[in-house]
Amino acid sequence: MSKPVVSVVQFAEPYQSLRRALDLCGGLQQFSKSDKILIKPNLVSWDFDLPFPPYGVVTTSVVMAVLVRILAEEGFNNITIGEGPLMVPKTVGRAMFKELGYPRLRDRYGVEFVDFNEEKFVKVDCGGVELSLAEKALEADKIINVPVLKTHNQSKVSLGIKNMKGCLNRKSKMFCHGAERDLDHTFPHIAEKLPAALTIIDGIFGLAKGPGPTGKAERLNLLAASRDTLAADVVGAALLGYRAGEIKHLAYFAGRSGGGTDLNDIEVRGDDVEKHKKFLSYDWEWTPENTGPVGYAKRGITGLAVRKYDNTMCTGCSMLFNPLLIMFMSAYRDKPFPNIEVLSGKVQKASPGFDKTVLFGKCACELNKDNPNINKAIAVKGCPPDLTEFEKAMRAEGVACDYNQYVMYRHHIFNRYKKEDGFDPDLFKVKET
Ligand code: SF4
Repeated sequence: MSKPVVSVVQFAEPYQSLRRALDLCGGLQQFSKSDKILIKPNLVSWDFDLPFPPYGVVTTSVVMAVLVRILAEEGFNNITIGEGPLMVPKTVGRAMFKELGYPRLRDRYGVEFVDFNEEKFVKVDCGGVELSLAEKALEADKIINVPVLKTHNQSKVSLGIKNMKGCLNRKSKMFCHGAERDLDHTFPHIAEKLPAALTIIDGIFGLAKGPGPTGKAERLNLLAASRDTLAADVVGAALLGYRAGEIKHLAYFAGRSGGGTDLNDIEVRGDDVEKHKKFLSYDWEWTPENTGPVGYAKRGITGLAVRKYDNTMCTGCSMLFNPLLIMFMSAYRDKPFPNIEVLSGKVQKASPGFDKTVLFGKCACELNKDNPNINKAIAVKGCPPDLTEFEKAMRAEGVACDYNQYVMYRHHIFNRYKKEDGFDPDLFKVKET
């Protein structure tokens, strides 16, 4: 049996690099000129209020632009770019398309754009559960999946299979982070219903402790492409330093599709995976007692037990968890916190022995509303919750959490990326010519 082919190419001159990646894996061989093509980048979110470093978080515009150019040169003229970004609380798809310079692709090649959140969804049986998939994605003849080479603090890696979660409506995304069914066994079904004809992993940047902007990006200058969704992810995982077999959702997808997770069963063309492999850690380390990140313990923080997030916390809350940690740090005054436990997600229950219990988000509030272990509940109810409300609630308890410290942190993480080190914001703008 022939092995699936994945190309690995060093990114240099954008057009030539992507051309080579596609040629090596025969990326467009099975496309017909009349195909309705949907390109699905990873545009998980953007922040229009605070500095947002996009490196390793969203697909670069430079890859999107050369991909569209190549498709146009090959005679494909029915191209749509579609994504359903995080709703915070409203969808930002169109604003993101504009920010990333996509309108130039419409002017040049007649590309259309769709924010799935604004369109119809269709209920589809996905392994015994009904998920609502974007109708525009279901209607496409060929899907080109363009994820980023990044880690994910819940699913370890977020590559092609994970990227298809952006085709769900908000309710179904939340369902994937449900208490009844594990995340890693839910979203792989989407890639079965919406199979990508071609996956291009944008590894110009890689991201540790992803998937959001509080992770740490590295310039890696890599592209990987394949007609085989799983094989692309196996190679992507290897480039991030992970064996695909240890990634639950990849093992699950492989089990269902009859594919393999062994790198040796893939024909890699172009550059050597071993040569480019760089381990990027996916997670924040927590204390063995589950009282908070080890960084808290190192600073001597006591009287506070922030329980580690789990897979039931969906992206809305997940994007706010790092800010919450920073805000607690901002309140630390070299003396113990007043015996607080902090819970999030859909399964964490209050433990006995705490004076105050922070219930972060609607789910934690509902699950613990009658919990007899709680002495004083500090309920931050939103879905996702509001950080300024969290600040207000904590201050009312004498804990001086400071949102401005988080704002300063965001400036700090934005400013740590320097253009001279390869963190060029122009890579996220479709160029004029
Ligand atoms: S409160 Fe948080 S975890 Fe619960 S559904 Fe909303 S975003 Fe998801």
